[in-house]
Amino acid sequence: MNIVYLNGVYLPAEDAKISVFDRGFLFGDSVYEVMPYYQGVGFRLQEHLERLQHSLRALQIQLELDWETLLDELVWQNGGGNLSVYLQITRGSAGKRSHSYADDLQPTVFACCTPIRDIYKDGPEDIEPIRAIVTADLRWHRCDIKSTCLLPNILVVHQAQAQQADEALMMRDGKLTEGSSCNLFVIQRGVIYTPKRSSEILGGITRELILQLADEHGIPYQEVDLDYDALIGADEVWISSSTRGVVPVISVDDQPIGDGGKGPLWKDMFELFTRYQQKLMTGM
Ligand code: PMP
Repeated sequence: MNIVYLNGVYLPAEDAKISVFDRGFLFGDSVYEVMPYYQGVGFRLQEHLERLQHSLRALQIQLELDWETLLDELVWQNGGGNLSVYLQITRGSAGKRSHSYADDLQPTVFACCTPIRDIYKDGPEDIEPIRAIVTADLRWHRCDIKSTCLLPNILVVHQAQAQQADEALMMRDGKLTEGSSCNLFVIQRGVIYTPKRSSEILGGITRELILQLADEHGIPYQEVDLDYDALIGADEVWISSSTRGVVPVISVDDQPIGDGGKGPLWKDMFELFTRYQQKLMTGM
């Protein structure tokens, strides 16, 4: 059964209801997190919860909850295993539609989960590489806030799919920012390049881990501005996110990247990443 959490109650998804005046519904006045659980245990959970606090602070939503206990219970009620847990907090409902809001609204808290791939089974050969397009980044200038205002992200991924691609990489003022739901890495002559952390991109938890692993294993990396030519001329391109991990991009705008296959540095990073995940989750 699909059990969700809504405002203090665990219940079947079909029984969960929110007000039509909820500001998350009316205005996208809300933030979210997506956290992977492997074998019932949260992966990099503290990092996700810190980013959640950053998003809540940015919206001036004040809410103190024991997130870890709340989410662990949801995962347990859904049978544990390998799950992606979605958590959304809206500013709440004032029973009417108005842009302005009072500070005493009761936030709406919603969480649900969906199955994800099993990191204990998959090897690099099981990972499907993806195709990407490049398109304009039409988002606002606070992309560091994980807001549910995702219309630009939705439109660009739809555009990618209409062009038989899987992901849209976005570009603002001649610089690549990130994908519709992922961070971006460009590899050239053994060096990992990724756009600098700023309010133009989401501070990805997986991005941080990739840079940490690169650091620990002596793989050089730089946080830099990247243009279209750097992308197309790259030896390898990767994207990263919590639910997808690190995934190779084999073509951009129908042009093959490198030799058009999964690159050797990607395979190394995939192995480092999987080993790190398994060690953290099993202590071995
Ligand atoms: N950028 C955007 C726009 C995203 O939606 C995501 C997915 N949450 C990411 C980057 C990757 O972030 P993370 O590694 O924390 O999942």
